[in-house]
Amino acid sequence: MEILDGKYVSEKLKVEIAEQAAEYLKQSGRKPHLVAVLVGHDGGSETYVASKMRNCEKVGFKSTLVRYEEDVTEDELLLKVSELNHNPDIDGIIVQLPLPKHIDPEKVTEQIDHRKDVDGFHPINLGRMQRNLPSFIPATPYGITLMLKEYGIETAGKHCVVVGRSNIVGSPMSILMARNTQPGNCTVTICHSRTPDIKKFTLDADILIVAIGKKNFITADMVKEGAVVIDVGMNRETSTTTKSGYKLYGDVDFENVAPKTSWITPVPGGVGLMTIIGLLKNTLASANREVYPSLSKF
Ligand code: NAP
Repeated sequence: MEILDGKYVSEKLKVEIAEQAAEYLKQSGRKPHLVAVLVGHDGGSETYVASKMRNCEKVGFKSTLVRYEEDVTEDELLLKVSELNHNPDIDGIIVQLPLPKHIDPEKVTEQIDHRKDVDGFHPINLGRMQRNLPSFIPATPYGITLMLKEYGIETAGKHCVVVGRSNIVGSPMSILMARNTQPGNCTVTICHSRTPDIKKFTLDADILIVAIGKKNFITADMVKEGAVVIDVGMNRETSTTTKSGYKLYGDVDFENVAPKTSWITPVPGGVGLMTIIGLLKNTLASANREVYPSLSKF
């Protein structure tokens, strides 16, 4: 068993991104600029956004945080996104999810100009991704493909089972693994909460990607000998033994599953660290107009 080490890969890729950002600054006289919009004070969201901002600064990007209280109206938020769309100094816009119940996340996602949608959640980007056209790819699936690439994991011809079908992880992940790309070219099965006997599918997986949000859901008896296991789950539990006051658990029972695998991601130290790389790469690509050559037609 070997570890797919998110810390090692993410640090290595951050050095590359920082070099490219420095070159971009030299050529253009400005830094790639990411704006994050955060509504309310959810603990998880606060942590994720702070980490995104910190990492932007680390690689030489400009980052701006726009904050709203929980009672901001949907109209106010949509108006703000529209204003950010029109600001030529901004390359990437993300609105941290989840949003309060009175705000429709679909409306907000679609309000973001797809050419600045560095989370890759806009239907235009998802459609273009499915067609294998240039697009922003959702950060977590993107980060996972970068990790598979880094470790030279062969995916072509393999059976990949994705557990979870959310718009931000499971669904796009399944599309990427089925595409005619490297990584990709897998035969893909998607499981979800209505799948009876999930074990029947997971036991047949050469590559198992789990994103459901249930601590230790995947147990050793559900995994094939020699499988590659990617654990996206981030389940927080309060803890008195850590400085942060909580402990993170994956969706996979790492201790018992790991000995059966060829490769596995730990939690923490795996996929979570790669997600930020996906976001940084999308933002840099946006600044360089690699995905959409023109931003002039607003
Ligand atoms: P989500 O939107 O809640 O979706 C969960 C998916 O899991 C749904 O498709 C659901 O099925 C499925 N599911 C739930 N219970 C199941 C069960 N017992 N058996 C089979 N499928 C089940 O979650 P998400 O946003 O994709 O996140 C999933 C996990 O990944 C969470 O722990 C989250 O914190 C973590 N995450 C980590 C990162 C990272 O950077 N590492 C990024 C994003 C998310 P239905 O569709 O049928 O309801």
